[in-house]
Amino acid sequence: MSYSKVSCQRRRSIRMVAWCLVLALAGCTRRQAPVTRQWLCMGTVAVVSTPRGQEAHLPRVHAIVSETFAEIEQNLSIFRPDSTLSVINTAAGSGTSVPLGVHAAATLALAYDAAAAGHGAFDPTIGPLMTLWGFRGTPRTQPPDEAEVTAARARVDWQAIRLDTSSNGNGMPVASLERTDMALDLGGIAKGYAVDCAFDRLRAAGESDFLINLGGNIRGHGRPGPARAGWRIGVRDPFHHDGMLGTVTLADGEGVATSGNYERFVELAGIRYAHIIDPRSGHPVRGMAGVTVIAPTAVQADVLSTTLFVLGTEEGSRLLEHSSGCHALWVTDETPPRLLPSPGFATRFVPSP
Ligand code: AMP
Ligand code: MG
Repeated sequence: MSYSKVSCQRRRSIRMVAWCLVLALAGCTRRQAPVTRQWLCMGTVAVVSTPRGQEAHLPRVHAIVSETFAEIEQNLSIFRPDSTLSVINTAAGSGTSVPLGVHAAATLALAYDAAAAGHGAFDPTIGPLMTLWGFRGTPRTQPPDEAEVTAARARVDWQAIRLDTSSNGNGMPVASLERTDMALDLGGIAKGYAVDCAFDRLRAAGESDFLINLGGNIRGHGRPGPARAGWRIGVRDPFHHDGMLGTVTLADGEGVATSGNYERFVELAGIRYAHIIDPRSGHPVRGMAGVTVIAPTAVQADVLSTTLFVLGTEEGSRLLEHSSGCHALWVTDETPPRLLPSPGFATRFVPSP
């Protein structure tokens, strides 16, 4: 990793630590504020919180969550050459089926279902387009030309994932990519999946009041304190770094995630391009600043926020109607921005004064 990449990542991480604390503390006075621990992992900031007065639980909560995240990163990171995902990518088009551990099998199955549900707006094989636009590999200064976009788009196809989660004769799930130069990228789902895994392990260990936040993929259980209805989450203002558009209070076990155009972007020929790409056009999505989704689980919120960022409000609302227990807020990238909540989100959202 080059020096500029490190320093850029560090600056972003410091900003995100500050922001994650704002999220956890949304609406709390200092005396009520939950106790938190944060650290860097999966290329972002993780934060766990427990109610003030339950500080004794925090080290255990932190240990369980950080071990879970590390284990999942080991399996799913495209930045580790030995991860299951990298092995599948390297073997693309060779006909070799790669055995999957439990995390790779579960996330690939969820990602495949999300791709089908959104008719390809969410595509876990987005890798070639991420590289083409300079989000991975060699940085670039000019946008690619249309011929390059068309060529990369031909290598993005979720229906060319071969996934067998039943068995390969040994009882082990396997996966492969049909064509050479395809590449999986689970950046739009892995964090939500990791939060759900950590959530389940904390519940199995008997923990009942906690909030997990992995780079804005959040899931909570219980309450932040005796006088509180539930964990209150700040919805970040995409246009003012430390500002909040408002808050939502999570019901027990609910997840929330935000996909935004502000955390990761490239600047090409003076134009900013966000890190979410529409697989149908091959271009980064323009016109949307952020989408926040409340869902029954963190992984549902994660895939849906990315999908709805691509689909926009009209097509997105139709998908949302078939997503039980899910609510969304779209924030357009214009001056002034428009806040477009689904009916369910509107009833939950308390705008900032
Ligand atoms: P999120 O912040 O959860 O919306 O995820 C954004 C990340 O998902 C990007 O950094 C890419 O790794 C990946 N990604 C970008 N576009 C798509 C897409 N259309 N479908 C699935 N994953 C995507
Ligand atoms: Mg996502």
